[in-house]
This record gives sequence, C-alpha cells and structure tokens, in this order.
Amino acid sequence: MKKLLFVYAHPDDETFGNGGTIAKYHKLGVEVSLISATSGCKGKSGEYTFQSKEQLAAHREGELRKACDILGVSNLILYRYLDGGLKDVDPNELSERVYQSIVDIKPDVIVTFPPDGITAHPDHIAISLATDKAVLRAEQEYSAGEEPTYYYAAIPKAVRQAMGLAEGLAPTGRIDMTEYRHLKAEALRQHRTQVYSVDRGYPGVMQGDDSSIGSEEYYTLVRKKGQPVDVTGEEVAVLPYLELFNGQ
Ligand SMILES: [Zn+2]
Repeated sequence: MKKLLFVYAHPDDETFGNGGTIAKYHKLGVEVSLISATSGCKGKSGEYTFQSKEQLAAHREGELRKACDILGVSNLILYRYLDGGLKDVDPNELSERVYQSIVDIKPDVIVTFPPDGITAHPDHIAISLATDKAVLRAEQEYSAGEEPTYYYAAIPKAVRQAMGLAEGLAPTGRIDMTEYRHLKAEALRQHRTQVYSVDRGYPGVMQGDDSSIGSEEYYTLVRKKGQPVDVTGEEVAVLPYLELFNGQ
C-alpha cells in the first residue's frame, strides 16, 4: 500500500490546503497519515467558550478527528505542543520527532508547508524547517532510489496576491480534486472553532454553501529520489496536473 504523510502545525492546516488531495488519495487506496504538531489551543474559538487551554485543545483534537474521518486520514499523530509555541521548541527536538515519525511510517510521499509557512505563521515556519531537516536524515533509512518524494503545499501567485499574502515559491503542479470538493467542505465544517478562518478562506462553507471551494490544490516538488529539485523557477502559465507518487 502506498503511503502519504502530511506534516502540519495546527488542526485545520490539513483541510485548508490539502483536504481534496487527502480525500482523493484515500479513495485511490493510499494510506494517509497526518502529523499535527500542536493541538491548536490559541486564538478565537467561534461560538464556544472554554475554561482552559486544555479544554480548547481537547475540543480541537475532536474536530480534527472528525475531519480526518471524513477525508480518510487513517493515522493521526499528535505531538501536542503548545499552539503558537513551535518556534520556542528546540529545533533539533522537533525535527527529531518528525524524523522518528517518518522512519516509523516510511511514507512514499511527504508534504509540509514551504519555508515561509504560506501565511508566515511562526508555527508553520518552524514545522517546515523541522520537516526539511527530518526528510534529509530519514532519506538515509530508505534504499537508494526509494527515497520519499517531498513536496511543499503551494498557492499560485494570483491567489496569493488576492489573499494579500507575500510572494512565495512557485507551485510546480496541481491536483484536480473536483470530485472531492464537498468532502473538503464537510471537513472544513468540522473545524467549528475556526469559523472565522473558514469564513475568511472559504466564505459560505460554514453556512453550507460550497461554491467558494476550488477544484484544485497546488504543490511544489522539493526533493525526489534523495536529490534536491530547483524550486527557484517562475510559475508556468499552465501548471501540469500532478500525480504525487510519480514525483512530477
Ligand atoms: Zn496553521
């Protein structure tokens, strides 16, 4: 069975950027694992009021589990670091944990945030750096030529501009997830405490209108067969469709 691993910082990171991809590959028979490094115990919590960070964290883990069930993540790994605190975790400790998870799972494909974290959130940046280091080390545990294909989640330039985000690495490919838009929407709706973020990113979805969900998700290929790929290129006018396991 082929294996796909997403390495993220917060409950909901997986659904926002990759919900359609997860649902699609699950349907194709791929085993999907997700690392969520924090439990997301910070920030606004929608209609809810919680007595403590622990209560909010437990609630968000519950939301994440429901989203994972909908999308088809069969292996959820929670590190339970403090939300907002990843940048204060010893970088070696964080990358060691990711390394251990990779060695345990032996995924064929690994996906995380790009070095700018897409939104520049310090937790996103910290998990991206930790995963970079972990992937390089973990490659030694694979046979030559069998090393995992490594991608960053990406957002096309035009969309970044529309969202007011700084320019980032160009995507090198896209995944057609048309058939999985509604599963992505359903998974987003599980993250009820994140209603403000969902309303901003996908207006209408929390109210049951899925029309703001696009039909594609984007990736930048970073490493393949143990070798780096040049990621400094400009975005091409028409991005090729991607098959994650072919390492395109
Ligand atoms: Zn996040």
